[in-house]
Amino acid sequence: MAEDDLLALGREAEAMIRELAEVSAEEGRLVRLYLTPEHRRAADLVGRWMAEAGLDVGEDALGTVKGRLPPEGGRRNAARRLLIGSHIDTVIDAGAYDGTLGVIAGVLAVREIVRRHGRMPFGIDVLAFGDEEGSRFPVTLLSSGAIAGRFDPAALNVESVDGIRLEDALRRYGKDPAEIGKAAYDPEEAAAYVEVHIEQGPVLEQAGEALGVVTAIAGQSRHTVTVVGEAGHAGTVPMALRHDALAAAAEITLALERLARRHVDDFMVGTVGRISVAPGASNVIPARAVFSVDLRSQTDAKRLDALASLRGEIEAIANRRGVTVRVERTHEMPATPCDPTLQAGFAAAVAGQGGEAILLSSGAGHDGQAVGALCPIAMLFVRCRQGVSHNPAEFTSIGDMGRAIAALIEFIENFDRSFLAR
Ligand SMILES: [Zn+2]
Repeated sequence: MAEDDLLALGREAEAMIRELAEVSAEEGRLVRLYLTPEHRRAADLVGRWMAEAGLDVGEDALGTVKGRLPPEGGRRNAARRLLIGSHIDTVIDAGAYDGTLGVIAGVLAVREIVRRHGRMPFGIDVLAFGDEEGSRFPVTLLSSGAIAGRFDPAALNVESVDGIRLEDALRRYGKDPAEIGKAAYDPEEAAAYVEVHIEQGPVLEQAGEALGVVTAIAGQSRHTVTVVGEAGHAGTVPMALRHDALAAAAEITLALERLARRHVDDFMVGTVGRISVAPGASNVIPARAVFSVDLRSQTDAKRLDALASLRGEIEAIANRRGVTVRVERTHEMPATPCDPTLQAGFAAAVAGQGGEAILLSSGAGHDGQAVGALCPIAMLFVRCRQGVSHNPAEFTSIGDMGRAIAALIEFIENFDRSFLAR
């Protein structure tokens, strides 16, 4: 696409992002939570854009807005659909691009497809999900899970931070929970799901590239580790006789860092993000340290291997230091690999815009994780300034957004026909 057209698309995306960012529960900062009046207004705005782009607009029982482009005539029953989506809910005090860019990119790309081709040999659905962030209810990806036929009715009973059951919030939003089953696609109908999203990390900026192709949404293991040592006077207990819980925790943290660095090829990252120390006085040897371990990688087997090694190291550290260590698993989410053929399609589309497709793993969760249970998925990442996200400073340039939309258009035009035959 010519640079001018690309910038025009980017400028239009920016204007839409600004308009959507105005839809907030609070003045002065962006807060748009699932099933709130702001969600309603955002869904209506997105629905209007979809209609203006030439799509048939509908909404399912979990509030997912759906803009449909039917396939070329005569293929209505036989054709499969390409799904393009992202989310319109936000975190509290959010940036303007997270999620919304993917929805807007879908709308603008399909609008261009309609202009150029009318229809394609396959149908296209643009989807705007409502609960990717999990900022209001203690569950997430319900709406994208529902289109994959994976809605767990137990979720209807969870309570929001403001004390409202999900089922009641849905009814207030004008939805009938009994209809949720109808949100599911027939697996025969869904050819593939793709999503454009800001990277939310610094890799593309470091590489000097606007766009990247995601190889997998990382799997994630979270643990809580409790180290119990022995309190003592910081002035009187000699170093050789101590059982310092914090020093042991520090050594375990470094062991985790070493293990993750050994698997950079698998995009492994390990973090201790929270630690509490007791009794917590400057003149007392720590008796107890409780900390979190977050380990992510694109290959589940490598992550589980690393965890087994970590447990081995923990045991050695505990024995040497005379402390006891308890490790509890609190969360386990397998990786969602992106389809190689779809990745190749995105890589070709990125090259078509003059870029070089950087391959990267998504350390953050996305709707594609849930849709992966339905059909092959892929993601296109867009550079964002300094990798900042979940923050009002979040920023993606007009040029980069234009390139992302142009790449999505090219991806749709060259959508691998093998996905229509499967
Ligand atoms: Zn997001």
